Amino acid sequence: MKPAPFEYHRPAELAEALTLLSELGAEAKVLAGGQSLLPLLSMRLASPAHVVDVNALPGLGDVHVDGSGVRFGALVRHSDLERDGAAFMVQPLLRQGLRNVAHPTIRNRGTTVGSICHADPAGEMPAVLALLEGAVIARSATGERTVPASELFVGPLESSLRPDELAVAAQVPLAPAGRLSAVVEIARRHGDYAMCGVAVTVDTVDDQVTSARAAYVSMGPTPPVLDLTEAVRGQAVHDADWAAAAELAVSRLEPEPDIHATADYRAHLARVLTVRAFQQAVNGGAQ
Ligand SMILES: Cc1cc2nc3c(=O)[nH]c(=O)nc-3n(C[C@H](O)[C@H](O)[C@H](O)COP(=O)(O)OP(=O)(O)OC[C@H]3O[C@@H](n4cnc5c(N)ncnc54)[C@H](O)[C@@H]3O)c2cc1C
Repeated sequence: MKPAPFEYHRPAELAEALTLLSELGAEAKVLAGGQSLLPLLSMRLASPAHVVDVNALPGLGDVHVDGSGVRFGALVRHSDLERDGAAFMVQPLLRQGLRNVAHPTIRNRGTTVGSICHADPAGEMPAVLALLEGAVIARSATGERTVPASELFVGPLESSLRPDELAVAAQVPLAPAGRLSAVVEIARRHGDYAMCGVAVTVDTVDDQVTSARAAYVSMGPTPPVLDLTEAVRGQAVHDADWAAAAELAVSRLEPEPDIHATADYRAHLARVLTVRAFQQAVNGGAQ
């Protein structure tokens, strides 16, 4: 199918883009990498009257790493962030999550901020942002605000960004010393959206667990973030009872059935993958 007709805009300056978004309101959709929007347009699941292509805007293509964390602009492609060595050094979970997003060709074009704005509960990067307690920087014609991940994801494909707002960047904090992390998932085919996925962090002091947290993919309308510390607090990190952490997680998750998996099967996957993710994290994670 072809998209319904729309008016295409390609502003060259941020101020021009923000004015357009404020004038067009809900009639407009932002186009970044197009890897989610174009399929939606082609299937006519979305039919905005205006599409505002932000790819010509200057200053949105940088990854910036400093003492407070990693900030990546709205035009940073998944593959740019995945390859960024400085970002990986201070926050490995970004690369660990990105390696599970679709295929390299899609990662070359899709943006990580676009994926976050798309708010797909089957997407890896909303879960990673939520687990890391990151945020999105939203700009409109009237100003700028920082939207924490805990307030950003409000439903499937639904964020709290207003139609007149452009997410100019997203940011995540540095990983603290002693942090271990990993992302694991199961998809029907390599590169497909996961039937279930989990991102975990384990914080340690003197090789003992001080914190264990997990965020889930495809396990509800928004990415659930669970603090599982009580199951493993104070245990030796290489010998901790990750099965108990997984049981605690499953008792708190509320998976939903769809055409890919029943709720029970999703709960089973969450149990198995939670153990696997924690084990992978303590064994060095993916590099
Ligand atoms: C075959 C296929 C498989 C895929 N598999 C996966 C997968 O396994 N995991 C996964 O996470 N993703 C997957 N994706 C999606 C991919 O990761 C996209 O890159 C991503 O979801 C959206 O980023 P984008 O830059 O392409 O955004 P676009 O498609 O351009 O936009 C997506 C939505 O976000 C909004 N938006 C984009 N940027 C901004 C902004 N800066 N400010 C405000 N709103 C904005 C748009 O208006 C639109 O509503 C897949 C895509 C395809 C085609």
